[in-house]
Amino acid sequence: MTMTEHETAQAAAAEVNEIIASAAGGTDDHPQIAPLEDDTITLDYGVEIDGKRHRIVRARELKGLDEEMMGRIDVEAPDYLVRLVDTVVARCTTFIGVPETTPRLDAYKQALLVGDREHIFLTVMRLTYGNEREYRNTVCPQCGDPNDFIIELDKDIEIKHLDDIEQYTWNITTKVGKVTYRLPTGAQQLAWFAQNFPIATRNTMMLADCVVSVNDEPLYDSRDWARNLNLADRKKILAAIDDNSPGPKFKGVKVSCATCQKEGVIEVDWTQLLFGQ
Ligand SMILES: [Zn+2]
Repeated sequence: MTMTEHETAQAAAAEVNEIIASAAGGTDDHPQIAPLEDDTITLDYGVEIDGKRHRIVRARELKGLDEEMMGRIDVEAPDYLVRLVDTVVARCTTFIGVPETTPRLDAYKQALLVGDREHIFLTVMRLTYGNEREYRNTVCPQCGDPNDFIIELDKDIEIKHLDDIEQYTWNITTKVGKVTYRLPTGAQQLAWFAQNFPIATRNTMMLADCVVSVNDEPLYDSRDWARNLNLADRKKILAAIDDNSPGPKFKGVKVSCATCQKEGVIEVDWTQLLFGQ
């Protein structure tokens, strides 16, 4: 843990204690600053409620009924993976920000950025199965030998953080001028995958949802604008959205091969994280 992460964790722990103290009625007792609990994380963006941003989230491990609910999702459905993450986040996020959010917790969970939701997903995996996951018989990208790799979730899966957590929109220069965009939410992602749309159609939906304005002018029909946009700019904006998104990077996890000793890069499969071992 770096100093910055440690300090963030301490600040988060202090915030949680403050919340708990105020929920208990705010006694005169000196609040004890406990270390951040294993089940508590600080999201990058979090949710904004009544003008105040809340980033502290608590999660729990998966139980039998969660497994049953995940088992009901159609494996063949286009949104299978998105639904899996949604089910985990919906069922296992027990707290966001302040106790007052609890009655509307489900709405807030879908309002979280895709990257923040994936951070919760990774936390639930760690709480459920522990920090180490073994990938058996995974082909080494360097020598091609089947190998068993051990991945430490907290170290080997890099979590990208926002450079500035106050920033809500970003600008990019394109052929059509300055495009201002924001990052996608869970609810938007669920809509893109709800039907078996071709990738190009999903990209149009993503651009329409994320682009806020062009040359500081709001878009009246963002879907129509995205459809009329040239392919190079579409690609450029989509890549920028992806680059700026916070959260765990499941692609490109570095592993060391026992056969050739070389470092290789593998992609961590979400379903393996959920059902693997
Ligand atoms: Zn190898």
